[in-house]
Amino acid sequence: MTKIDPLKLTESIWDYAQSEKSSHISFIDFDSYLVMVDTGMDVDKTKEFRKFAEKTTDRAFQQVIITHYHGDHTFGTNVFKDCEIISTQATRDLLAQKVEDDYKNKNIILPNKTFSGEYELKEGNKTIKIIETNGHTKGSAFVYLPEEGAILTGDLLFADMFPFAGDPTVNPYEWIDALQKMINLKPNIVIPGHGNICSIVELKSQKELLANLVKIIEDMVTQRLSIQEIKKSPRLPKYPHDVNERWFSMTIERFFKVIKEKGEEES
Ligand SMILES: [Zn+2]
Repeated sequence: MTKIDPLKLTESIWDYAQSEKSSHISFIDFDSYLVMVDTGMDVDKTKEFRKFAEKTTDRAFQQVIITHYHGDHTFGTNVFKDCEIISTQATRDLLAQKVEDDYKNKNIILPNKTFSGEYELKEGNKTIKIIETNGHTKGSAFVYLPEEGAILTGDLLFADMFPFAGDPTVNPYEWIDALQKMINLKPNIVIPGHGNICSIVELKSQKELLANLVKIIEDMVTQRLSIQEIKKSPRLPKYPHDVNERWFSMTIERFFKVIKEKGEEES
């Protein structure tokens, strides 16, 4: 049997992450039913999490929110075949494409309820808001529980880590705006996509990290440095945490491309 040890974080939110760096799965006790937020990569663990949730609360799942299309947040969708699966339209489109390309054998269940912009669930005096921002991927959204001041960020936040920012649809400008939007909500608790449960402090520090990296690359693009020169530049910041070399390299390439295209549009 797969053993898991979920944590109760607020009056309604329970959360589990397999290790410090793996993706979080959470559920919201929405009084008369349960809502899942992201479904993880390890299907057996997600199954156990579902069992745990239904046993602990004596309620059933009705809805699943998917924050973005990456496999470590969507492989577990097949544990929720009987539920409504909610995502942004862009996330559904990207995931459908991924299923055709390289998630063929993952038995992913595609979202059957999509929206663009904002979506709200209401039950008694509880509210769940899903807010589309893009950034980490096109269609990325975060989940906000105003009554509890809780934000589940999806991968818009990698707490105490250098983020994975190398997706082909990443947009650092929209990502920075997304973090600012979350900061403006003044959350009491922040549940990141990866890393430790944290607070507004971590949102601010990830925003700083991204803004700083964008600024440095913008300067080098203005000086007409090539991507090869930028990648080797001593001006690139050193981070206190372990940085995955491949992620870092993909990040620089993507940021370079977006920054360059932005510059060309503006000139
Ligand atoms: Zn992701």
